[in-house]
Amino acid sequence: MTTLRTYNGVLDTPVEYLKGVGPVRAELLKSELGLYKAGDLLSDYPTKHVDRSQFHKVGDINEDGQYVQLIGEFVSLNMIGEKRAKRLSGVFRDKSGQIEMVWFKGANYMAKFLKPYVPYVAYGRVSFFRGRPNIPHPELETLENPDRLKANSRIMPSYRSTEKLNTKGLDSKARRRIIQEFLPKIRERDIPEFLPDDVLSKLKLISAYQARIHIHFPKNQDILLQAEKRLKFEELFIHQIRLLYSKASYKAESPGHVFSTIGQHFNHFYKNILPFDLTNAQKRVIKEVRTDVRTGRQMNRLLQGDVGSGKTVVALMTMLMAIDNGFQACLMAPTEILAQQHYQGISDLLKDTELKVGFLSGSVKGKPRKQLLEDLASGHIDILIGTHALLEKPVVFSNLGLSVIDEQHRFGVAQRAKLWAKGKQHPPHVLVMTATPIPRTLAMTLYGDLDVSIIDELPPGRKPVKTSYKSELKRPEVIAFMKEQIKKGRQVYVVYPLIEESEKLDLEDLNNGYEKLLHYFPTPDYQISVVHGRMKQEEKDFEMQRFIDKKTQIMVATTVIEVGVNVPNASVMVIENAERFGLSQLHQLRGRVGRGADQSYCILMTNFKLSADGRERLDTMRRTNDGFEIAEVDLRLRGPGAIEGTQQSGLPGFKIANLAKDGAILTAARRMAQAILDEDPELSNEKHKRLRSHLGRSLKQAKSWSRIS
Ligand code: ADP
Ligand code: MG
Repeated sequence: MTTLRTYNGVLDTPVEYLKGVGPVRAELLKSELGLYKAGDLLSDYPTKHVDRSQFHKVGDINEDGQYVQLIGEFVSLNMIGEKRAKRLSGVFRDKSGQIEMVWFKGANYMAKFLKPYVPYVAYGRVSFFRGRPNIPHPELETLENPDRLKANSRIMPSYRSTEKLNTKGLDSKARRRIIQEFLPKIRERDIPEFLPDDVLSKLKLISAYQARIHIHFPKNQDILLQAEKRLKFEELFIHQIRLLYSKASYKAESPGHVFSTIGQHFNHFYKNILPFDLTNAQKRVIKEVRTDVRTGRQMNRLLQGDVGSGKTVVALMTMLMAIDNGFQACLMAPTEILAQQHYQGISDLLKDTELKVGFLSGSVKGKPRKQLLEDLASGHIDILIGTHALLEKPVVFSNLGLSVIDEQHRFGVAQRAKLWAKGKQHPPHVLVMTATPIPRTLAMTLYGDLDVSIIDELPPGRKPVKTSYKSELKRPEVIAFMKEQIKKGRQVYVVYPLIEESEKLDLEDLNNGYEKLLHYFPTPDYQISVVHGRMKQEEKDFEMQRFIDKKTQIMVATTVIEVGVNVPNASVMVIENAERFGLSQLHQLRGRVGRGADQSYCILMTNFKLSADGRERLDTMRRTNDGFEIAEVDLRLRGPGAIEGTQQSGLPGFKIANLAKDGAILTAARRMAQAILDEDPELSNEKHKRLRSHLGRSLKQAKSWSRIS
């Protein structure tokens, strides 16, 4: 977080010395909100603003949820109800009528403080209860002081608070007054500008000083927007500068192998083996990789592409580049089955070449393992494919030049580091593939220090999966449809949600569902596989294999069904309780079908009652098959923290920027940061001096972080 470097004084004033604070409130500001100095209060931006320039009449109130500002008085104030239902109820009246105001929280405090027959200005949100309007927890201000009324008839900030602060009278309104008191004392020189002039002028940003004043008490909506824009930009820009600086320092300090030639294996594969034309997106990514591996710096590239977009062949061609330059390559997948599938697919493509492909997982033991490790160390094996068994100590390469990691979010940073250590002289280049598209804005903030390639195009001729949603009433129809598909020789997935906190319950769901399915699909006519999280990996693999081998027609599973597993003959995906899944997860699951030549279907079974969010999710699924579009909607609905793959990666907590909404500002910030660092990598130019000094020590930190991550 950026702290303001102050000129001298005002912003360093401890909160207890500010007017309207005092020792008791100061303690609360510190312990509850972590605000110690005036500058901290200034940087604790309002959570929202309310337009208090309008006044309303009680008699005109007719809308639930409407915000109103009233002038009137209380004709009665009574504590009513018992124990937990105890509350303060006041009848508030103006010339046009009367309305109830209630306090559940802090009722005792308010009862002491409020007086009947004294004029107040009241502001709050109308809520209807049994057809009658009331206003819970209104903000109140006595009307004794006309100056204050005037001062308050404007756009007003609201501040975050806590229950404890509210009950101690340090609510949003009190916070507002404190700020209002000390804001005029701040001078322009207290908040020196730190963004370069040309950034300010290019993006038409107001100054650091102005933004900080207007974000609290804007004169109008326009200046409020300007203040928000400036502060959001500055927050994202500073973050991007640090990321890009750290990335550049890392690159400068981490030499990598040079793959200088495109050789015989690559060319032979491309001309004689590759059974289809590459899509433009695939070609572009291969070029991006090619550029990286020639620089003499280690490549760290994230390859994002929807399920079925053809990442594997890109990985394979990258591996061939490594081999053509005298190196070995490896590919690591998160599960045995996935690794096996890669092994079979790649061995098959390379069967008429002299290249040697090896397989390693926990299940390779004894003599074969020993032989494999020897062949690897002697350089006999060109490509090693496997599970995280690849990371183990005895696995020694003769000359590892490239590591490909499939389905990235299952592997942590520590594991990536282990792979690096397998390189001799230099760490291998790293290509990480993921089928969980991350919205661009998130990728820019999360992986700012990785290079990102995107395959945003599916191979031609794919039939998009047809998606529908059905309520329980339509169950017989769905069963009939499944039977029809099975009769055609297709296979079906039935998936139940698995949410960790209620794992037991979900297993029950799955078991009940399984029982029902057995009833509809009796043996011996039908065979059903079951896979769930409580099973051992070998059991899961066994069941999965039966399904792959077409020994079973239906696969009942919790969401553990393997990412990336390819069963082209499966053409129906039934998702139970679909409303309980996040969008990205639904999309991932749907990606299990639509891999063969046949038309595939995804059926989302839902509750009768859907929340607005739930409906939007299901409608989005029906509308589009584009993983990036889906990820954007998911980001908007659930916020950045909930997006898969972001939890462990330490998404920065922004104070004012919102990644779900501020994509345009982020893009501008990124571009600007990149341009500045391209021109002046160490920020040593005169015009970047103040930026550099604002970043201060955090730049050096960025440098040292880049070495350990
Ligand atoms: P994913 O990106 O999900 O890992 P895969 O690499 O498994 O996708 O590719 C899915 C399928 O598409 C594979 O059968 C692959 O052979 C095929 N494929 C990949 N690229 C193309 C292409 N350019 N044209 C036609 N088919 C392709
Ligand atoms: Mg794949």
